[in-house]
Amino acid sequence: MSELIEKIKEAGIVGAGGAGFPAAVKLGGGAAEYIIINGAECEPLIQVDQQLAAVYASLLLETLDYLVGQLGAKQGIFAIKEKYHKAREALEKAVTAYPKLCIKTFPSFYPAGDEQVLVYETIGRIVPEGGIPLNVGAVVENVETLFNIHHALKGTPLTEKYVTVNGAVRKPATFKVPLGVSKRVLIEAAGGATVENPVLIDGGPMMGRLERSPDGPVTKTTKAILVLKGDHPVVVSKEQPMDRMMKLAKSACCHCMMCSDVCPRQLLGHHLFPDKLMRLASYQSTCEKDAAATAAYLCCECRLCEYACIMQLQPWKLNQELKVRLKKAGIANPHHNAPEKVNQFRAYRRYPTDKLVRQLGLSEYYHHDAPLVEFPVEVTTVTLLLRQHFGAPAEPLVAAGDRVKKGDRVAAMADGAMGAHIHASIDGVIRGVDSNAIVIERG
Ligand code: SF4
Ligand code: SF4
Repeated sequence: MSELIEKIKEAGIVGAGGAGFPAAVKLGGGAAEYIIINGAECEPLIQVDQQLAAVYASLLLETLDYLVGQLGAKQGIFAIKEKYHKAREALEKAVTAYPKLCIKTFPSFYPAGDEQVLVYETIGRIVPEGGIPLNVGAVVENVETLFNIHHALKGTPLTEKYVTVNGAVRKPATFKVPLGVSKRVLIEAAGGATVENPVLIDGGPMMGRLERSPDGPVTKTTKAILVLKGDHPVVVSKEQPMDRMMKLAKSACCHCMMCSDVCPRQLLGHHLFPDKLMRLASYQSTCEKDAAATAAYLCCECRLCEYACIMQLQPWKLNQELKVRLKKAGIANPHHNAPEKVNQFRAYRRYPTDKLVRQLGLSEYYHHDAPLVEFPVEVTTVTLLLRQHFGAPAEPLVAAGDRVKKGDRVAAMADGAMGAHIHASIDGVIRGVDSNAIVIERG
């Protein structure tokens, strides 16, 4: 097992979406009964994992089986939505060769890909408040992360990323690109924007990060680039200042509890009631003696509460702000209850993705096919951020003028520090190194 963890660490593998948690730390964190592969891809418009699963089903299952054996797990579960037909068929055909593996399917709802939701959907266990899947014997890894682990086991470091380019572009597509390439190059490769003054979202429309400039580099966690017009409702929602939202909440929140009714963490039995936090913040008092600002720590920031709210308020934004303030004040999460059962109505309150897409104003893009195609551009410059993972930045090992080959380690983590090594993604010459990034130019 230590050899496996060492290879994954050496290759710089991190979760291929979300916060970019180092895979070696997650897999080396302790004994797990179940290894669950997260193929939910629940953010609308992203089409990476479902295509990887369809094309590389055998390779992925072989790697999962290897992990199950090496980590001494009881079972490996590949979790995927029912509607990803091609991936499902390929996986169900290939899985018969692996007695310790199974395929688990579920309907299309949001946020099915939340780790804690996925753990309940697949093995019926509830992760405790403020906990991680390992607390209930599970480790969850993303499909693309598993794909990268396959290559790490063969000694190939992480230098490439699969990215869906979707939304207001002429030819939506999914590309394999070198890490560090400018997002502008991907948008051009997808035929360019079809709207004036476009903006982009790095990730999905719900949890992705809004970027006004297309010149940022692709990182290990860039799963999608969504192009939208600058005044699209998704953009307006993400940009609305917190104080304006709270002013609206004071006059508009009718305490209907719709936000709490759909909250995925509340539905798992966690003591998170966004309506109560909104009341607490609006009036600096609450009728509920057990509502505390620290409950914000239980929020996964999926933003679903905003789309359940008939007044279009944003409890998630309040929770985000509360977490920042609590951390600044040195107040840690005090909530660690382990619910024994989920909300009795959970099965009926899973939020359908189709409905969410309509509310997001993304219907015109939802049925776009973004096929996995060859990237048509020879990339000449890459900017490798030193922090493209959870934890501390990596430390540069190169200086301007050095020649590097694709796969060479160019930045490393100090011993014991949380993070991941970074490798050159093209052959070339180092053109610049600073505290933020390393620039390589082909030549
Ligand atoms: S759904 Fe909206 S209006 Fe209803 S309690 Fe929640 S924040 Fe208030
Ligand atoms: S963002 Fe809203 S719906 Fe999602 S976990 Fe937080 S409070 Fe619940």
